[in-house]
Amino acid sequence: MPEGDTVWNTARVLHRALAGAGLTGSDFRVPSLATTDLTGWTVRESTSRGKHLLLRLTAPPQTSPTAAWTLHSHLRMDGTWRAYAPGERWTARPAHLIRVVLRSPKAVAVGYHLHELALLPTAEEESLLGHLGPDLLGDDWDPDEAVRRLAAVPEATIGEALLDQRNLAGVGNLYTCELLFLRGLSPWTPVGAVPDLAGTVALAQRLLAANRGRWTQSTTGSLRRGQTSYVYGRRAEPCRRCGTAIGREELGERVTYWCPTCQPPPTTTPAAR
Ligand SMILES: [Zn+2]
Repeated sequence: MPEGDTVWNTARVLHRALAGAGLTGSDFRVPSLATTDLTGWTVRESTSRGKHLLLRLTAPPQTSPTAAWTLHSHLRMDGTWRAYAPGERWTARPAHLIRVVLRSPKAVAVGYHLHELALLPTAEEESLLGHLGPDLLGDDWDPDEAVRRLAAVPEATIGEALLDQRNLAGVGNLYTCELLFLRGLSPWTPVGAVPDLAGTVALAQRLLAANRGRWTQSTTGSLRRGQTSYVYGRRAEPCRRCGTAIGREELGERVTYWCPTCQPPPTTTPAAR
């Protein structure tokens, strides 16, 4: 599941593959960019903000009066970028899912099933990112601001508030479910009834940071298959702590997993359920 740590990792892979390289070809397979040709452009850097991926490019002067451009993409549930050596076969996904190919002398980057693919002046990045809360894995991570934003809507359920990228950027469904288990919080607890919001935010950051640099996401400390989560994806399986069957239920637009014993329902506002 691409969450902030996966996007962070992907940005580093693309950075190592392409930073400093002059592109020798590009192939966009989305209608809005079908006529775009980045041949001769240079890749400055690749970075991430929350779950957004930013490939920053320099346009040759004869192409554009604006030098600094950004190729934005979002992985959502199923997108991925892969870097291949020139001549290597592209095997990650079926070819019909390819949305863009960027060629350089040292590597070929292939983006599969990307969403929100857009080329815009770097100066205008904020038009796409300005709504985001503090980035859990950003150099400018600001836990106080994340707490402030969460606390601003005390009646929201904590399960939905943590997923709202306007509060803090980078947490997805997996980390939300795991985080709430580790904090003993029901997903339906109103934000205003969470006893230590700052502690919850701090743990969210630690969970993502611990998974940087590897592709297997684990919150349990184990990287063994089937052992990497406490509740996420474990419907009806016994809780690792108390043995109760893990629950699975819709919460807003997502599905949440939780242990009914370790994460008792909120008592302050029963109507919230
Ligand atoms: Zn339990």
